[in-house]
Amino acid sequence: MTVTTAISLRHARVRYGPLEALHGVSLTAPGPGLTVLLGRNGAGRTTVLRALAGTVPLSGGAVVWDGADVTRVPAYERARRGLCLVPERRAVFGTLTVRENLELAAPDFTYALDAYPPLEPLLPRRADTLSGGEQRMLALSRALLARARVVLADEPAQGMSPAVAARTYQLLSGLDACVVVAEQRLPPGLRGAAALVYELRRGSLVFSGEAAELT
Ligand code: ATP
Repeated sequence: MTVTTAISLRHARVRYGPLEALHGVSLTAPGPGLTVLLGRNGAGRTTVLRALAGTVPLSGGAVVWDGADVTRVPAYERARRGLCLVPERRAVFGTLTVRENLELAAPDFTYALDAYPPLEPLLPRRADTLSGGEQRMLALSRALLARARVVLADEPAQGMSPAVAARTYQLLSGLDACVVVAEQRLPPGLRGAAALVYELRRGSLVFSGEAAELT
């Protein structure tokens, strides 16, 4: 079954106190497929993911998911409807073991071990003893197990070896979901790919198009 879903920002504004981090951003992430948010540090990529997930309120504009205005739908309710945010930090339960982290997402987690075989020997370890890259694998496995319709991942391949990073993009690209990733640069595996790319600079969009168009 193919999941057809789309999530959008319409003229979205987000403020952190006196600072406006998004100055009226409009973008659409169609699914199934991969949408990449690019930008330097502080450009607003993380804030776009938070706005889509509902973990920051908008000060203007709207979030539209499958044609419905969800701007005032709280984050937990968006999660219940199939939206999964994988933040850059604190994306796993540090005091629980890897096995417990996976079991919380799905009692049968064999799919996660097929996706990321390096997790298998780590099952008894406390999650906060893993390396950064291993924690990313665990966090993404939890998202894969949740069978989300919308997956929002902040720098998913950070801290991973090039081979595991490539595997991660292969997994994300193959998901039957709308997948939005935030990255500083276009991941090598996506050059020339059909992914949709938006580039942010200081809270505004400066590019939108196919990854293949980026030079
Ligand atoms: P980074 O990778 O550095 O997080 P980014 O493109 O994801 O870059 P955002 O994290 O969205 O950028 O930040 C956009 C702007 O909002 C920056 O100026 C940042 O300092 C500010 N900002 C982000 N989060 C907060 C917060 N919780 N409180 C105050 N300001 C914030």
